[in-house]
Amino acid sequence: MNEYDSNRIYDLTSIIGYNKTHVKKEADCFVLNTCHIRKKATEKVYDEIGRVKKDFKNSRKPLVVVSGCVAQAESEEMIKREPYIDMVIGPQSYHKIGDLILNYQRKKEKINATEFDVVGKFDDLEKVASLQNKISSPLTIQEGCDKFCHFCVVPYTRGPEYSRPFKQIIDEAIRLVSNGAKEIILLGQNVNAYNFLENNKSYRLSTLIIELEKIENLKRIRFTTSHPKDMTEDLINCYKKSKKLMPILHLPIQSGSDKILKLMNRKHDREYYLSVIKKLKNINKDIKISSDFIVGYPGETEKDFEDTIDLINEVGFVNSYSFIFSPRPGTPAARKKLNNLFQNKTRLKKLQNTLENFQVLNHQIYLHKFCEVLVENKLDGQEKYFGRTKFMNSVKFKSDNCKPGELINVKITSFNKNSLFGFHMQNKVQAA
Ligand code: SF4
Repeated sequence: MNEYDSNRIYDLTSIIGYNKTHVKKEADCFVLNTCHIRKKATEKVYDEIGRVKKDFKNSRKPLVVVSGCVAQAESEEMIKREPYIDMVIGPQSYHKIGDLILNYQRKKEKINATEFDVVGKFDDLEKVASLQNKISSPLTIQEGCDKFCHFCVVPYTRGPEYSRPFKQIIDEAIRLVSNGAKEIILLGQNVNAYNFLENNKSYRLSTLIIELEKIENLKRIRFTTSHPKDMTEDLINCYKKSKKLMPILHLPIQSGSDKILKLMNRKHDREYYLSVIKKLKNINKDIKISSDFIVGYPGETEKDFEDTIDLINEVGFVNSYSFIFSPRPGTPAARKKLNNLFQNKTRLKKLQNTLENFQVLNHQIYLHKFCEVLVENKLDGQEKYFGRTKFMNSVKFKSDNCKPGELINVKITSFNKNSLFGFHMQNKVQAA
């Protein structure tokens, strides 16, 4: 979502005359669009500002803007901690960035803009042309969350669940496709809770997918991130009804232990999660599941951890993310006693090895076969291209005649845990 927001921030600043530069010392303004999901991400913001400060030590001071969830969570504190920051803008206020910059230029007073104005934001963004022309384009349809998992800052930084108007989303998707997008990734912190009500009619994520399916030049649809409780039957059925919805679902579970899921306030148990996967597999046996895992949640015992390993072995997840629990200020879990760090690290290593084994098995399936790849771009300084399979695997391959945006067959000749490697063949062969 930060990528989507960053693109929109660029669209907004370009209206008041700013252009992107890749030469750091040329910049007049730095916008750091930040993530507050883990402590490390937050600290990176201060490190990056430190680097800007160093680069401009003996010259003019550029305008420094911190936007995103760290700005929302730490607002005034940030300006106190790092006076080099001129402005903090929350994720639901960034549509005002143009006016805020112009105001700052006039008055030279520090600005703290952290109101929750999500309706105003999307109404304003609708009027601003998107300069985004990526083959795979993110599109925010929903923001915020009402679930209040005990470890998570999202309900505090992004606010309550909000679903954008249905027509506004379809119009934006049409614009993205006319700018060259071939794949749209529908985004929301709780994307499958999307529910827009108009004239007594409820528009759900499933309604959106079926409508997007009709856009002629759009080839692929994905959505992320979903909560298991919101995997409703109509959405599960989309995996049968829609030809463009890709057969991989990111469905975070965080832990395989019912005790920990309860402590996390996840609002579902292991059995419920597995029942969702069973329904999905009944609809499409080839569907793959990726997930998120938190290791060392306060109170996690060896038995709880082994329950998570057992779940991974049962489901066989691909492309998953795992981290040691990071206490976020203001959340209920932040008040709990932390587990032993050494033990957490040992557990994380074991969990990541288990995930990696499945990742390798998943990549092995492709070896010496052709697979369908959506070409996204040519790799910088290389005679190779980058694309993705239906299942989100990264593919790097040689080709002398492909173009970004094309769906092509690539023969896979090798792989590592992160990527598949191969070459593009022109002959039409059944894709894996
Ligand atoms: S459902 Fe997701 S976004 Fe919402 S509180 Fe839980 S982890 Fe955070």
